[in-house]
Amino acid sequence: MKIQLFSIGKFADEIASFLDRNMDNIQITQLSGIYPEYDMELLQEAELFIVLSSQPCVDLCKNLEKHAYSIGAKFFPVIANQPMVTIGPLSNTDEGACYHCFVDRVLQHSPIAAVQNSVNEFYNHNMIPSDMGFHPADVSMFGNWLLYTLEHNLGSLEGQIFNFNTYSRYGYKSNVIGVHGCERCGTQNEAARSYMTLENMFKNEMGGKELIK
Ligand SMILES: [Zn+2]
Repeated sequence: MKIQLFSIGKFADEIASFLDRNMDNIQITQLSGIYPEYDMELLQEAELFIVLSSQPCVDLCKNLEKHAYSIGAKFFPVIANQPMVTIGPLSNTDEGACYHCFVDRVLQHSPIAAVQNSVNEFYNHNMIPSDMGFHPADVSMFGNWLLYTLEHNLGSLEGQIFNFNTYSRYGYKSNVIGVHGCERCGTQNEAARSYMTLENMFKNEMGGKELIK
């Protein structure tokens, strides 16, 4: 499987460099800034696109996922937001949820969704000049974990995310379910309609503006 990996930030660059030394089928593209839109000229031919970033970059991931979907490729984000690192979900597969639904679900379950949305927007346009700090051994840990997963166990990330706290060393997996109405992975089932959608519908009915877009 041909892979193109976009890396952003020092932590990500070091993991990407480890993968580059240990894999033949991976093309590393380092980004020196945050771009909500990817640069078409940077895109390589690939069956899997990965964003490995030292900071959140929601719009870049959404846009790359759309591109991957349009050419029948898969998409897979590995995003640090210290102390957390979130791996997955693997999108554009037969099972599981897409990245768009993952972002909507995170907002849906957040008690401060509007604030979270604003923070995402900040990161969409601002590159943090240096990483907030990471243990050098974590480069080896994430590098080896990704190496094994990409070569032997990629399917385990369909519809799943793995969250790891680099300070407490606590990690957990959780399922990601498609949001109602998503043409790719939503169930179209009324019972799966998200709370956020209902909230926005209610606001519209009442003549208010949408809280979440
Ligand atoms: Zn979806």
